[in-house]
Amino acid sequence: MEKARRVAVYPGSFDPITLGHRDILTRLAPSFDRVVLLISSNRQKDGLFTPEERADMAREALKDIPGVEVAIHDGLTVDYVKKIGAGVILRGLRAVTDFEYELVMANMNKKLAPQIETMIVFASPEFYYVSSKTVKEVALHGGKVSDLVPAVVEKALLKKFRQKSETQQS
Ligand code: ADP
Repeated sequence: MEKARRVAVYPGSFDPITLGHRDILTRLAPSFDRVVLLISSNRQKDGLFTPEERADMAREALKDIPGVEVAIHDGLTVDYVKKIGAGVILRGLRAVTDFEYELVMANMNKKLAPQIETMIVFASPEFYYVSSKTVKEVALHGGKVSDLVPAVVEKALLKKFRQKSETQQS
């Protein structure tokens, strides 16, 4: 691999980071000099957590994986990738339902920046069904999420939903 290809960016909402996201990074980080988990802040209004909260949780959850960093970006992923001189965009694929979205994004990014490659990695079987969305739903209804998210996220979800229910009651 040429030098520029040894830096990868793993973009997404990460609202919040799950063990599925962490699994992708654990598996792929050794193949790169540096991997930046990039939190897109464009969709901030829809998020349960602010981009800063997501970044703090991700940093804590990934601190034991060498070469992994966390950043926040408002704008096109390819602009960030070019800015830091990375060559690869990493994405994960779970079900067939992810496929079309990932295909469209990869082709759009190729059109915008032909020199950047998208690498799609299959989710591990144990995390195939884990998404930030389902984790939030389970936590909202008091279900156990300790096997689905890092401990720091479990704590933050409990706090967030406790705050929400207290605001609704008052
Ligand atoms: P986005 O809103 O861009 O889809 P997400 O934070 O949901 O961002 O996901 C970021 C990337 O991680 C996406 O490529 C997504 O398919 C992938 N991903 C999400 N959950 C998992 C999982 N459980 N296993 C593997 N990849 C995953």
